[in-house]
This record gives sequence, structure tokens and C-alpha cells, in this order.
Amino acid sequence: MSAATAATATATTARPALRFVSADTTTGIVAYAVASQHDAGRTNIISFDTISGDTFCTCRASECHRTCWHEAAVVEAWAAELTTIGVVWLTDAQLLRLGRKSATCVATYTTRVGRSLASDRLALLAARAEYRRRVRLGLIERAVQIAVPLAA
Ligand SMILES: [Zn+2]
Repeated sequence: MSAATAATATATTARPALRFVSADTTTGIVAYAVASQHDAGRTNIISFDTISGDTFCTCRASECHRTCWHEAAVVEAWAAELTTIGVVWLTDAQLLRLGRKSATCVATYTTRVGRSLASDRLALLAARAEYRRRVRLGLIERAVQIAVPLAA
């Protein structure tokens, strides 16, 4: 390991983990937060568009149109979320069941109490993201895609 690699590894491990904040099933955007390492009391919000793959951050570096570590970290956080939820290990049928169940829960709670549970929104976005990945890679049968269009 070179000195530069060691410094990068040290800097990476010193960075705080992003904290999940929200999942919007209408836009497909998930948001995470992390305390600013430069400004006490400031919280940076980092968003990831699960459909387009775009990222957005509210930190000072982003305000100055510079690349920040948060935007790379949010992509990793979302990938970890998918693994934690376990969608990558589900069969196509299980994935579609999770997607339909989550969509039903989101719709039902929204209708009854005006908002849904974050866990249901997160599961729905995860199922949709995994579904899109499988379609993109040709891993899911065309008949299933037509019968159950889980994601646009
Ligand atoms: Zn940032």
C-alpha cells in the first residue's frame, strides 16, 4: 500500500456514515444526511435519484460546484441498502411480490392516514431499482415484465 493509498484509506474510514432520511416513491429519490465536518450544527443532505442515478448534495463543496465525497458515498449507501433489504437475493417472483406488497402498503397508508411508512417506501424503491436492473441486464423474463410492470 502506497502512502497515498494509506492516506485515502485513512480518510475514507474517518468519514462518518450517511444516515437514511427519506424515500420518495413518486420521484424515486432517496435522501441521506450527515453532519458537516466543517460547520458545527450544519447537516448536509445528499439525494440519490434511483431512476436516473443522479446525485445532489447540499454541502459547501457542492455549493461551489466542486465534487464532494458525499455524492459517491450516497451511491454506496443506496447499494448497501439494497443488500440489507435483500432484494438482490430474491427470485423474480419474490421480487415482484415484495414490490406489489410494498406498493399496496404505501397506497393504503397514504389513503388512510396521509402518509406511508418509510420502511414500505424504501422497500418499494429497492424492489423497483432491482427490477430495473434485471430488465436492463435481460435477467427477467419478458412475459413477467409485461404482466407486472413494477418500474417504468
Ligand atoms: Zn457534499
